[in-house]
Amino acid sequence: MYHKVKNTLLAIIYVILWCRYFVALWDPLAGNLDVSQGMAPYRDWRFLIDGIYGISAYLMWPVNTLYYDLLANVVPPSDWFPGFYMANLLTLLQAMSATNPQAQQILNAPAVAQAMVGYLDYLVLFAALFYWLLSPLLDVTLDFLKNVVWNLLIEMSFTKRKEGRYQEALEKRAADLVKLNVEFKNLSKENNVLAQSVITDELTRVYNKRFFIEKITYEFNQAKAKKQVLAVAMIDIDHFKKLNDNYGHLMGDKVLKAVAQVAKGNTPNDCFCCRFGGEEFSIIMPGKTVEEAIRIIAKTHQSLPLLRFEDDNQLRTSASFGICVVDFKTPEGQALKSFEDLLKLADDELYKAKLNGRNRIEHCSILFA
Ligand code: GH3
Ligand code: MG
Ligand code: MG
Repeated sequence: MYHKVKNTLLAIIYVILWCRYFVALWDPLAGNLDVSQGMAPYRDWRFLIDGIYGISAYLMWPVNTLYYDLLANVVPPSDWFPGFYMANLLTLLQAMSATNPQAQQILNAPAVAQAMVGYLDYLVLFAALFYWLLSPLLDVTLDFLKNVVWNLLIEMSFTKRKEGRYQEALEKRAADLVKLNVEFKNLSKENNVLAQSVITDELTRVYNKRFFIEKITYEFNQAKAKKQVLAVAMIDIDHFKKLNDNYGHLMGDKVLKAVAQVAKGNTPNDCFCCRFGGEEFSIIMPGKTVEEAIRIIAKTHQSLPLLRFEDDNQLRTSASFGICVVDFKTPEGQALKSFEDLLKLADDELYKAKLNGRNRIEHCSILFA
């Protein structure tokens, strides 16, 4: 861009100089400068470019031999010196005025006009000098500035674009994270529900047999290892078969649910109410003494006969309970091999309760020796 402008300007200057060169040759030779009109002819465009007339001759040095011939009539070649054509037009005119009336005419013009001619002459001279001498430096400087500005602009636009892209990517990541977070929350909720359902009995909503086995195994081993107390109660609904027969299985299910809710409601937080199977439940009571276990179970025992059902107000239910509490500090306690041994003892108590008339609690304990 810079070079295009520079070359175009140079081309224009050269065209003007060439034109003026020929006009300059033509005017004095043709003698068509009307002196009687005073300064009038010099107010037109020719007058203006008279200023660059001298320098045009300098610029066209290799080709203006004709001009030399013309000047030779005025200044003897012996007076020529290397800077001859760099002298301003006034010098030339003064030299020419001796023989050239037109030059004399210009010299007689007002000082301002002469000064203009002189200034224009110098202006073009300096412009040309500046161009020839300083243009390489100017080129280097301009190239340097151009590179700096250009690189700066490129860098800025690149940074801007990069920033834009990063911003976009960040926003997308943030949106993805929000989405992932929501998905994660939903998944963990589903996971919790699933985990809960794996250990929950579908009908009664208390812990199922799978949980019961895992828990009793763990608690038995813990208590045995730490020589602590562990209590287990077996609960069996009385005459449930008959209840099913009399009221139907659906009603039987409702009773099962109700009994489970009562048992669960009376179970402390550190104990576990599980459906053992059919109409049987089991409550694991880690660390509970005989008295504590009996107190916990007694609540359910007493509550069950008070249960009332909307479908049939006459329906009554009860259960039998067998409790066994083991203290692993005793050799007898340590003699228990697995939780099955403990369950067997609790089951025996339940059987005893059934034999002793149902709707009652029987218990045994393997306590301090
Ligand atoms: P006992 O007092 O001696 O325990 O007599 P029982 O009738 O309760 O005992 P039995 O073992 O003879 O009968 C248990 C009945 O429980 C048999 C079975 O049909 C019923 N049962 C087991 N699971 C369910 C269940 O999920 N829903 C219903 N409605 N009944 C069940
Ligand atoms: Mg049973
Ligand atoms: Mg039963």
